[in-house]
Amino acid sequence: RRPPSGDRPDERVKVFLRVRPPKAEGETPGALRIKPDGKGVVVYREHATIPSSDFEFDRVLGPSASQSDVYHAAVKPIVEDVLNGYNGTLMAYGQTGAGKTYSLSSIAADAIGMIPRAAAEIFSHIEQDKIHEYTVYMSYVQLYMELIQDLLRPESENLQIRENEGGVFVGGVHQQEVSNITQCLHLLHLGDRNRTTAFTALNAHSSRSHAVVMLTVIKRRSVAGNGDAEIQRVKVGKLFLVDLAGSERLKKSKSTGLRASEAKSINLSLTTLGMCINARADPNATHVPFRDSKLTRLLQDSLGGNAKTSLLVAACDAGEHCEETLQSLSFGQRAM
Ligand code: ADP
Ligand code: MG
Repeated sequence: RRPPSGDRPDERVKVFLRVRPPKAEGETPGALRIKPDGKGVVVYREHATIPSSDFEFDRVLGPSASQSDVYHAAVKPIVEDVLNGYNGTLMAYGQTGAGKTYSLSSIAADAIGMIPRAAAEIFSHIEQDKIHEYTVYMSYVQLYMELIQDLLRPESENLQIRENEGGVFVGGVHQQEVSNITQCLHLLHLGDRNRTTAFTALNAHSSRSHAVVMLTVIKRRSVAGNGDAEIQRVKVGKLFLVDLAGSERLKKSKSTGLRASEAKSINLSLTTLGMCINARADPNATHVPFRDSKLTRLLQDSLGGNAKTSLLVAACDAGEHCEETLQSLSFGQRAM
């Protein structure tokens, strides 16, 4: 089953900038100024050779924004869509240390992240809906050097992307049925542990891979057909929650061996991702290069114009990271 198409206008990618609070040490704040309208932001370069840059997003969530603020702005509309049989994607982009994982996966009691919030909302909706029957499946994979590893079954290290009349899917990926938030949190924890183990064995860092949580919501309703027959109406919505690899450029001198290959594959996937989401903003785009990277191929059905997509650009207000911040904000700006 393909996502329904043609029944509503395409929407552009919504882009949110989240600026995390500065760290107590080693960071000089003042490089970012958020405008009072909550949408504009100006980046100041200390030793400017070109003028400081202006950006505008759907919303800028400053250091005092809570996880709940981020959820309501960037995620809740997507979850509501998924419960109605559409696909949707939330992606966190930014340099390592900018707040991607905190935003998506924090389980601190006072700072619950977007993944547990989305799951909680799905289950609370299901509990209240007395008309439909639901089944929810969760998968958790990572993409590292163009290989897809199942984080719930880590021995599956090289899963392949397949396509049938239902759309694009990861062949053989473990899909665990989940019926409450506790089960989801357990799987997240298990996946994170497997991710850490895999990277420790490689002497590499997990920020060099993309982590993708998939929640599939199947919604059924029996309606009376002809005579005694009952017809099942089925809707399937898929939610992708993506913690992208760190967008920072590696210094050329450091890029040898494994690090160079990592950098190359991250660059390929993030560049392709940028082209695919920019194409959505361009009415004249004819070719969208989904097939150029595993990441975009995997997200293909959830990045199209009929799926809601939020890009959360994570940044920090530190003069030291000015160049990376400018790069991240430009990436976000181009998607709009
Ligand atoms: P990334 O995943 O982008 O590499 P992290 O999410 O690990 O970055 O964040 C780096 C550090 O900053 C962590 O210690 C995290 O707890 C903290 N942090 C990030 N965003 C926030 C925020 N909005 N409020 C408080 N602490 C944050
Ligand atoms: Mg992280």
